[in-house]
Amino acid sequence: MRIDVVTLFPELFDAPLRTSLLGRAVAAGVVDVRVHDLRLYGLGRHRVVDDAPYGGGAGMVLRPEPVFAAVEALDAPEAHVVLLSPRGRRLVQRRCEALAAMAHLVLVCGRYEGVDERVALGLADEELSIGDYVLAGGEVAALVVIEAVTRLLPGVVGNPGSVRTESHAGGLLEHPHYTRPAEFRGMRVPDVLLSGDHEAIARWRAEQARRTTERRRPDLLQGDAGP
Ligand code: SAM
Repeated sequence: MRIDVVTLFPELFDAPLRTSLLGRAVAAGVVDVRVHDLRLYGLGRHRVVDDAPYGGGAGMVLRPEPVFAAVEALDAPEAHVVLLSPRGRRLVQRRCEALAAMAHLVLVCGRYEGVDERVALGLADEELSIGDYVLAGGEVAALVVIEAVTRLLPGVVGNPGSVRTESHAGGLLEHPHYTRPAEFRGMRVPDVLLSGDHEAIARWRAEQARRTTERRRPDLLQGDAGP
């Protein structure tokens, strides 16, 4: 899979793309992430990328020309272009699965007051939000998309079973996990997990997943988690 990122701050991607699971996936070539500096597509001698909003108001807005130019320079009309935006559709696991099935993603990171609306209208295939809060820029949101999508690609997570059973994969939150010691500060690991009875353990885990979801995220049981 290939992922291109368009950003004013390419350096924000350095450590995350070199570290742990994501770093290994990049090194192994499972995912080819290319980060592009939007400033290189800025206008004029000063490589201007932003301007004041028409109609007045606070902050600066990213102009459309540099963003269009940066994406069009990739010469990849088949790529799926995502604009990161708090106004976008909320990212959920099901959407990550759909994105992971795509061959080529382009992630456009906004900054300042946001991005000229013509990028959403004429360039992006979709706008995605990673949650109902506002970040300073789209870079952290892009990294969220990259990590959530990459760990779904074949061979990235060592045990594929863990991806299939974890929270949100089947519409429920995951059951609790315990490891050694069997007792810690008066808190004991549930007996069933020490029993060696795999059927009983599977039943307990399924029940715990259902109960935890009912208690913490009843919206998931009503299918309200979004597309
Ligand atoms: N004025 C905008 C608004 O109220 O919707 C917020 C702009 S924000 C400060 C700057 C950039 O950060 C956005 O263009 C977007 O790319 C990114 N961003 C901020 N919050 C985000 C979120 N929850 N999900 C995805 N991207 C986000």
